[in-house]
Amino acid sequence: MSSPIVLAANGLKKSYHKDRIDVPVLRGVDLEVREGEVTALVGRSGSGKSTLMHLLATLDRPDEGEVLFRGTRIDNAPRATRDRYRNRDIGVIFQFYFLLPELSAIENVLAPAMIGKSVWSYLKSRNEYRRRAEAMLDRVGLLHRAKHRPSEMSGGEMQRVAIARALMTDPTLLLADEPTGNLDTETGKEILQLLTELNQNDSLTILMITHDDEIAAGADVLWRMKDGLIETQQSARNEPLLATSAA
Ligand code: ADP
Ligand code: MG
Repeated sequence: MSSPIVLAANGLKKSYHKDRIDVPVLRGVDLEVREGEVTALVGRSGSGKSTLMHLLATLDRPDEGEVLFRGTRIDNAPRATRDRYRNRDIGVIFQFYFLLPELSAIENVLAPAMIGKSVWSYLKSRNEYRRRAEAMLDRVGLLHRAKHRPSEMSGGEMQRVAIARALMTDPTLLLADEPTGNLDTETGKEILQLLTELNQNDSLTILMITHDDEIAAGADVLWRMKDGLIETQQSARNEPLLATSAA
């Protein structure tokens, strides 16, 4: 029996306009992410992966098609609904972390909890938020770095902080856009290990975007994207990925 679909894209189209010319980037993308699974979206640089992720995260809108979260359309939902979706249902991490340089690790992790709250309601729950932020930093193995700023951390540590920040609001689904793309192989493996643990031990559903077949091979399901379209979909875990992709 397959688990419920958490996130779905139906017929997503998106063009950018360059010199008055429409450049199609997504040309009708269908995609499903099932609860409890690690889904990999793999494709070469420029194939439209990040554009798709922005639509899935409601950071941008499609020209055509729809995005559904637990069966409810989210791409054209009212602003408050989209804000709630972004702030509670999903967590997002990127290749370049996007930590605020003037804040410490723990302050970066706390930031999403402060968004959308009045000062008073934040102050009222401040201790609770702080405890949760500490727990999340601990979860990613970085509690001892709580007071360090990003400039005092390695790439792998910054990505761990970004993961802790994404987990702060206890999302159902983590969208990860090339989360190891800026890291050396060993550090990248550690981050993948952490994400795998979060999937297996904490039931976090993950959509992992990558250009790297080796990374994608660890996922449960693999969607391959080419020139703005999904080319193939296959079950990935424990299957000889190289044999299938070479065929
Ligand atoms: P990927 O993440 O797979 O590398 P992207 O989604 O970032 O691919 O980009 C797909 C294509 O869309 C590329 O050709 C890129 O140049 C173009 N593109 C992305 N963002 C913009 C933008 N804001 N304006 C114009 N073109 C863009
Ligand atoms: Mg990209």
